[in-house]
Amino acid sequence: MNKLFLPVSEPDIGKLEEELVTQAVRSGWVSSLGKFISEFETGFSSFCNANYSSAVSNGTTALHLALISRGIGPGDEVIIPSMTFVATASAVLHAGAIPVFADCVDDTGILDNLAVEKAISNKTKAIIAVHLYGHPSDMDQLMKLSEDNNLFLLEDAAEAHGALYKGRKVGSLGHMATFSFYGNKIMTTGEGGMVLSSSSDDDKRIRFLRDHAMDPNKRYWHSEVGYNYRMTNLQAALGVAQLQRFNEVNSKRKRVLQQYKQQGLEGLFGIKINPRSSWADPAPWLVSIVLPLELNSKERDIICTELFKKNIDTRPYFYPIHQMPPYNNYRCVNKDGKGQLINTISLSSRGFNLPSSPNLSNDDIVRVSDLLKKELERFFL
Ligand SMILES: *Cc1c(COP(=O)(O)O)cnc(C)c1O
Repeated sequence: MNKLFLPVSEPDIGKLEEELVTQAVRSGWVSSLGKFISEFETGFSSFCNANYSSAVSNGTTALHLALISRGIGPGDEVIIPSMTFVATASAVLHAGAIPVFADCVDDTGILDNLAVEKAISNKTKAIIAVHLYGHPSDMDQLMKLSEDNNLFLLEDAAEAHGALYKGRKVGSLGHMATFSFYGNKIMTTGEGGMVLSSSSDDDKRIRFLRDHAMDPNKRYWHSEVGYNYRMTNLQAALGVAQLQRFNEVNSKRKRVLQQYKQQGLEGLFGIKINPRSSWADPAPWLVSIVLPLELNSKERDIICTELFKKNIDTRPYFYPIHQMPPYNNYRCVNKDGKGQLINTISLSSRGFNLPSSPNLSNDDIVRVSDLLKKELERFFL
């Protein structure tokens, strides 16, 4: 029985990654020129059924670029969930725009589209739909809202590589999409990101801005202030390998989730594992536990502390962004048009992630599940 520390997430990096990264190092093309960049971009476009992909330095710069490429800036409101990783919100502020926080749906945590509709004002320019913990947002309704109100709809798919919405791949469902390849994500390049778009004008603008806004027809001529948001060839080599191994690693992730579900946790005392909507085929990223409504962060934190004492790492759901100091002065809107993000606050206090690495053994999963059951029993028996 393995009693070693079980982290929440570990990357799955194999021989192919070693080979391609070595090839990139030996080629001398270690910065942002080199064959792996375009190979990764082309491969990622076809993986997502998107027209264009531009590789960038991380998922946060991807979000920032997507927003500014469409001219979103000072005075513009961008509707985002409060239930997400902080980068969704900080990217809006980096662009100089104003985040407006819409409530989420319980238990999946994705944007509540009714709240989004109520949050639209005459300053609204964009919506960022986050596919939270691998679960796609309800994109058809959001697309309709965007079209009716002339808004830019951006998918933040940092946590959802390969997820399906009504049978369609995320990354090609809005006007643009962004991904992250941070070490704990479904696919990794160490640090890295991608911006996907359907129009060649958008893609050109993104490439221009990520490369110091250098004139494509006149080297070292800069007609605007740009950014250095490029990905390196070394990272792209890792990405090409991860993309080739996607199915292999993804089935391991699915197996992990399946084996957790077989331990009789689902429905036990009303807890849920990776809750999902009927139309969603979520990406298996982190194994998520959502406690029933009568429990909150007090019980959740006791459970996590006890598991930690047994060498089992867990991660609480994201804190509501609208409660943190730099973000607590912006407008919040729930499905009744009021300012209390009831579902966000409740879900944030009831959710946590279990060890979810693709190479977790069945013994580890049984051990974690048995200990979790014991901890739950204290509150219910
Ligand atoms: C990880 C993440 C990001 C940011 O990606 P980085 O590559 O870490 O900058 C953005 N949005 C969400 C929802 C994320 O989970």
